[in-house]
Amino acid sequence: MEKREQIYEGKAKKVFKTDDPSLVIVDYKDDATAFNGLKKGTISGKGVINNQMSNFIMQIIEKEGIPTHFVKELSERETLVKSVSIVPLEVIVRNIAAGSFSKHYGVEEGVVFDEPTLEFSYKNDDLGDPLLNSYHAIALKLATKEEIALISDYALRINEIMKKFWDERGVTLVDFKIEFGKTADGEIILADEISPDTCRFWDKKTGEKLDKDRFRRDLGGVEDAYSEMMTRLGK
Ligand code: UDP
Repeated sequence: MEKREQIYEGKAKKVFKTDDPSLVIVDYKDDATAFNGLKKGTISGKGVINNQMSNFIMQIIEKEGIPTHFVKELSERETLVKSVSIVPLEVIVRNIAAGSFSKHYGVEEGVVFDEPTLEFSYKNDDLGDPLLNSYHAIALKLATKEEIALISDYALRINEIMKKFWDERGVTLVDFKIEFGKTADGEIILADEISPDTCRFWDKKTGEKLDKDRFRRDLGGVEDAYSEMMTRLGK
């Protein structure tokens, strides 16, 4: 599959056209940003890790019956995926209080929930990705009621799949953000990435942070945390 012109460059990935209009190639970069682009840096080797981890997890999710954009890993940093228009919602599932949840609601990080929580943010950098509920999302025509029901069901199922997967590898899945896309046929599929950039991973025994919080909070050992997660994945 030939890589054609670049159609998009985001914070962590570039997207290229191919000869097939239904397929695009994503190319993962080592660039890292946080706090809506305010903090910028590089995490050496991150692109390779995020590409390979995301592909591995997407294939597991696909096997469990949830459609994803994954088609084929082309190289260390490049993957062929289905072309979609992204549903402008950040879908966040949490098992344990951390980050913005702890801040908003005044709860200590590490409080374990009886049931996972599900929330949406409006993907809009100018507005700072504000939190919204499903009624707001429908009012803003970001998705239909049916699409939101499907996305919610997929997100909670993905949480169950990933929680078990990481638990077996000595990792606690604290929370994560996913994004969905719509194909030309109108099918809703899991898109974007699943990686230490988009999930909070804590070592099950020590509680050590093994994700992008090491970068956000200047904790050091960022690269080591990402490679440790690759080792846990079995890579
Ligand atoms: N997250 C993300 N992109 C964002 C915001 C959050 O991937 O733009 C992920 C983040 O890595 C964490 C989860 O979503 O795993 C919940 O993040 P939270 O709302 O606590 O925001 P944060 O504290 O990261 O600002």
